Amino acid sequence: MENWLNKQAALVPDKTALIFKDQSWSFQQLREETWVLNGKLQNVVGDLHGRIGLLAANTFDSYLTILALQDLGVEIVLLNFRLSLFELSKQINIAKINQVLVDDSLQDRNKELGKLAKVADVKCWKLSQIKRLAEHEPNVAKEYEDKRVTTIMFTSGTTGNPHGVLQTFKNHFFSAVGSAINLGLQANDMWLCAVPLFHISGLSIMMRSLIYGMPVLLIEHFEEKQVTRLLQEKQVTLMSVVPQMLKRLLALFPVEGYNQNFRCFLLGGAAIDEKTLRQCIALNLPVIQSYGMTETCSQVVALSFSDALSAVGSVGKPLFPVQLRINERTKEIEIKAPSVVPGYLGNTVAYEKKITKDGWFKTGDIGHYDKAKFLFVEGRKGEMLISGGENIFPDEIENAYAGFPAITEFAVCGVPDDKWGEVPVGFYVSRQIISENELIEYGKKKLAHFKIPKYFVRVESLPRTASGKVKRYELAKKLR
Ligand code: ATP
Ligand code: MG
Repeated sequence: MENWLNKQAALVPDKTALIFKDQSWSFQQLREETWVLNGKLQNVVGDLHGRIGLLAANTFDSYLTILALQDLGVEIVLLNFRLSLFELSKQINIAKINQVLVDDSLQDRNKELGKLAKVADVKCWKLSQIKRLAEHEPNVAKEYEDKRVTTIMFTSGTTGNPHGVLQTFKNHFFSAVGSAINLGLQANDMWLCAVPLFHISGLSIMMRSLIYGMPVLLIEHFEEKQVTRLLQEKQVTLMSVVPQMLKRLLALFPVEGYNQNFRCFLLGGAAIDEKTLRQCIALNLPVIQSYGMTETCSQVVALSFSDALSAVGSVGKPLFPVQLRINERTKEIEIKAPSVVPGYLGNTVAYEKKITKDGWFKTGDIGHYDKAKFLFVEGRKGEMLISGGENIFPDEIENAYAGFPAITEFAVCGVPDDKWGEVPVGFYVSRQIISENELIEYGKKKLAHFKIPKYFVRVESLPRTASGKVKRYELAKKLR
């Protein structure tokens, strides 16, 4: 396919491509800026088709760097700046990269990153240093080849062992197209990006912008007051959120609503409780649930506008390019789609384990269809606990306790038990201490007895990944 940025610069040169901090760039301007940076980056990535690390922040500079590297045909290893130096070193080592570009704003925020070069034995370049290098003739890929890996991104690490995921142009293209067929494209669409660019949730917004010719309103990080104001004042039509963000926005939802063009929140990344979804419906706040993963380059299943109100709790139906089946024996969700990535970085064995003999990707998630063929995700295979022979998913228990008034956050993990094999333990965040009896009595109203947590632990906060998912494997450690 023709280079996406070049194509949009030809199709809609004057259309806004990006807005960041009260500055905006048309597709034509973005292409010009990308070309300048392309010329400077050649001093660093002389070897075309190489691979380089990027510690990206949600800034114009990082956005532009991804575009410029993409045009140079370089594989971009997107690193998560919230990881420890040790974790980063491990990923850098797996990726076999010897250079990392670092967004300046990150080094100011996290002084530790200054030590990365030494700890990981890499050359680090601040993006501001790159800007000062000599400018070469731009070397821009005329075409984006389907099979070429353009980004490498590590999974969120929710289950403790992030894999580097190889994402091709074809993967990104079909992901964007699948979403557009579901949500429809409007001439005035503008997507607010408050999720990290180093995650597929954020990067997929950039890809959609290139493929749809759509403006992105990029902000550095999520803050509910600022976002509420932006949703009121700017003509944002779509915004990707994870459950934590939606809850915080809901608490501030203004009576007069957001700007009149606002279409919906696209919600994904983790399970959400029904109480929150019903609150959104009561407030007339459109939320489209979706389900996907880094390995499928974002959503593969989503609700449609017409079903969003009737199929509450479901994540929807497989998008147009996606085939989905549920393994009859294990109940695992399996996917076949052009957005399923071709491999894991440096770990063929782990990837092969994920592919069935007939070529379907095993998601590791357990789910079921209801009669109307809406998909429900019950939880992760590895996090299911078996208590006295009964299967229990933490999500179901968490969903039940989401309605407990004094509890702001609740999470469950399983622990070994002599009598039952495993039992659920509930961790809660609350300003007040709640008696175990009260918690058990509440559970009895909502859950079968074997699903009521055997113990409850009050904690200051829950351990979460950068995108706000609870790391349940770390909860279990708290008990040791
Ligand atoms: P890791 O693979 O490193 O443990 P991760 O699986 O959380 O981390 P991601 O690729 O960011 O990494 O997340 C994909 C996973 O998130 C899915 O496999 C699924 O378990 C969960 N998920 C995504 N959307 C939903 C949803 N709507 N409902 C329930 N779970 C979801
Ligand atoms: Mg995963």
